[in-house]
Amino acid sequence: RSLFAMSSFSYHQFVYGSDNYGVLVHDPKTGQTAAIDAGDGAAYKAALAEKGWVLSHVFITHHHGDHTEGLAVLVAGTDAEVLGPKGDKPGLEGITTHLCDGDHFMFAGARVEVLETPGHTLDMLNFYLPSEEVCFTGDTLFAMGCGRVFEGDFPMMWNSLSKLMSTLPAQTVIYCSHEYTAANVAFALSVDPENPALIARAETVAALRSRNEPTIPTTMAEELATNPFLRASDKDIRAFLSLEDASDAAVFAEIRSRKDNF
Ligand code: ZN
Ligand code: FE
Repeated sequence: RSLFAMSSFSYHQFVYGSDNYGVLVHDPKTGQTAAIDAGDGAAYKAALAEKGWVLSHVFITHHHGDHTEGLAVLVAGTDAEVLGPKGDKPGLEGITTHLCDGDHFMFAGARVEVLETPGHTLDMLNFYLPSEEVCFTGDTLFAMGCGRVFEGDFPMMWNSLSKLMSTLPAQTVIYCSHEYTAANVAFALSVDPENPALIARAETVAALRSRNEPTIPTTMAEELATNPFLRASDKDIRAFLSLEDASDAAVFAEIRSRKDNF
């Protein structure tokens, strides 16, 4: 994070389920606290109690159960505002404020920009706080990975990742929803084996995971240097895949299908 970033919020990341991350964002001035997703009501409430923070907002990224199943338990007895995607998918019932691409809203005095990034699901939202230089990318962008494409198609996912690349400055801190990094780095090396930044990062990730420490958050700069799903234009990857003359979208599609079969 740069010295000049005016970050005023506190961030608490915690594990739930087998490999999910929840995050609480707290503003000490106003006392407001936002939860990113709500996949496990008990885990989120325990995290709030541990920090002594009171829930005021929930930002829902997408309808999948590991992001929404705890919402009713989490907000019971609070007057939290629940912001998230439109739609009638199971999991979205508790949303009180529906958002779409280009919307923005204020949380504790900070502007939150809403980016639709469909592909993994059609309803995926990412939440970008420019003044904090933080983005919550849900199951769209992971450390050295991207979400499996369930509801959309590969060109749609490539558009979504391209949108993140064109919107988020390199110093942006990325919180994603899963600790998939060890598996992702193994795959990344299979398509980008000579990348020195990737080779170095593989060692860092192995050390962190051997101590059961999180590899998240990451940064846009680290992802641009090491995430093969953001590197469809890289000439070494293109040469490795024998796709020198293909479009970036076609290179992305090849990388994504290799990962599906890795
Ligand atoms: Zn998901
Ligand atoms: Fe998920």
